This record gives sequence, C-alpha cells and structure tokens, in this order.
Amino acid sequence: MKQYLVKPGAKVKLSKIDPADTGDFKGGKEAALAEFEKLNGKLEALQELLFAEHKHKVLIVLQAMDAGGKDGTIRRVFDSVNPAGVRVASFKAPTAEELDHDYLWRIHKQVPGKGEMVIFNRSHYEDVLVVRVHNYVPPEVWEKRFDQINEFERMLAESGTTILKFYLHIDKDEQKERLQARLDDPTKRWKFRLGDLDERKRWDDYMEAFEDVLSKTSANYAPWYVIPANRKWYRDLVISSILVETLEGLKMKYPESEENLEGVVIE
Ligand code: ATP
Ligand code: MG
Repeated sequence: MKQYLVKPGAKVKLSKIDPADTGDFKGGKEAALAEFEKLNGKLEALQELLFAEHKHKVLIVLQAMDAGGKDGTIRRVFDSVNPAGVRVASFKAPTAEELDHDYLWRIHKQVPGKGEMVIFNRSHYEDVLVVRVHNYVPPEVWEKRFDQINEFERMLAESGTTILKFYLHIDKDEQKERLQARLDDPTKRWKFRLGDLDERKRWDDYMEAFEDVLSKTSANYAPWYVIPANRKWYRDLVISSILVETLEGLKMKYPESEENLEGVVIE
C-alpha cells in the first residue's frame, strides 16, 4: 500500500491519481472483503495491545470533500475495535470561543493520550482548506500555517504520537452521485446541506488547496496517504492495511503484571 503514500517533499497533482483505482483487486470485491475481515480482526487485537501497553498514542486524520466518505470509513474500519480505547473528534465550523483562540487550541485538546487511538473527522487542516478557499483569513495568515502545522505535528510525534493522515480521494462525478443519493433517500437527507452545493462549485479551488496541503505537510513523522475512495470497499481495505502495518511496526508488547505473581494459585 506504499504506493498511496505522499513522499515528503513530493509535489502532488490530484488529477493524476485515479480515485477509482482498485489496486490488485480488479473486479474482485469479494476477495477484497475477505481480506478486509482479516485486517479487522488484526486491528482489534492491535488496539487491545495499544491500550494494554499504555505507551504509544495514535492519531488518525481524515480529510475529504463533502460526501467523501469520512463517516463511512470510521464506521467500517473501526467496527471491530473496542469503543473504550477509540475516540472520534469531529471538527465543525469553530465556535465563538474557539475563534477567540489560535486555530490549534481546540485541536490540541483532542489529541490522543497514551494507549489511546483518536480519529480526527476533519482537523486543523480545515484552517488551510475551507478557510483559504473562502478567504476567512488573508493569505499572509494561512500561508504561515503549513510550517506551524508541521512543527505542531513534529512535537506530537516527538512526544510519542504515531500520526497517519488520509485524504479520501473521490472525483466530482462520484460526489454528484453521493449528494444526489442523500437528497433522494429520506434516511440520508439530514446529511445534506444547501451549502454543500456552494462548496461543490469551488471544487477546483479545493483541489488546489488539497494539493498544497499534501505537498507541504507530508512528513516521515506524519505522512499523508491519498486513498482512492470512489469504491468504498477498496478505500476501507487500503486504510485498514496501512493502519495494521503501522501498528505492527510499533512492536508493542503486553506489559508484565506490576506485582510478583510467582506461585499465585486461584483456589
Ligand atoms: P459530511 O461529510 O457527512 O457532510 P461534515 O464533516 O461535512 O459531514 P458538516 O456538519 O456537514 O459535517 O460540516 C462541517 C463544516 O465545518 C464543514 O463545512 C467544514 O468545512 C466546517 N469547518 C470545519 N473546520 C472549520 C474551520 N476551522 N473554519 C471554518 N469552517 C470549518
Ligand atoms: Mg457536510
């Protein structure tokens, strides 16, 4: 799955990356689902180990266009893990109190502690995406944020946080279908906002903003992955694989009991 990694310093052109890519699973949704189930089991065990070891902190950042599949990814990829050790932090438009502070204030409060896995549904990257596209702050303000974000994430990494960032890559046609489906289905309508149509008109501006994010903020200590996300089953499989591989790489161990249990027998 390394092909989806954004190499630090590489210039990303999203139009060159196929959102409908299905890798080695051409026409093989069934095979992909079987593989996905296996990964789900592994993730469950790894999360248990993360919690038990109480050493590493894991931060997963999800960014996408509207209807890009952030919610679906969270539901599917983490459906087997113990809810006690995982937390989702969703970042909506900032409140008045949040706007009175620096943009990382609300973010820093939500980062994972030891043994914890936290999923950011949107994140500090909104402050160089929606904020830039809508000119909520002038360029001289948001331009500085790439360096600030890199330093913030470096500090988190140096404090024991494993950071993984996923951009769910769909194309404009796929978004059209998904937004239309939200409109047509009474059980999905609550997700639809008229404002989504305004955002959709700014698609090209968003692509440019995302390309800048991916090109300027992928680091060894906090890599970005561009996930082909038109096919939900492939999106879930790729994210699960990267997650499992990364967690296995931490070489975590179950801790010993703090007490001497030698010779202890349960009567
Ligand atoms: P879905 O994709 O399912 O619609 P969502 O994440 O879009 O879910 P919404 O409540 O529809 O959830 O949208 C949240 C909104 O908050 C987005 O439009 C996003 O751009 C906005 N937002 C998040 N962070 C900021 C920020 N720092 N400044 C301004 N707007 C922000
Ligand atoms: Mg929305």
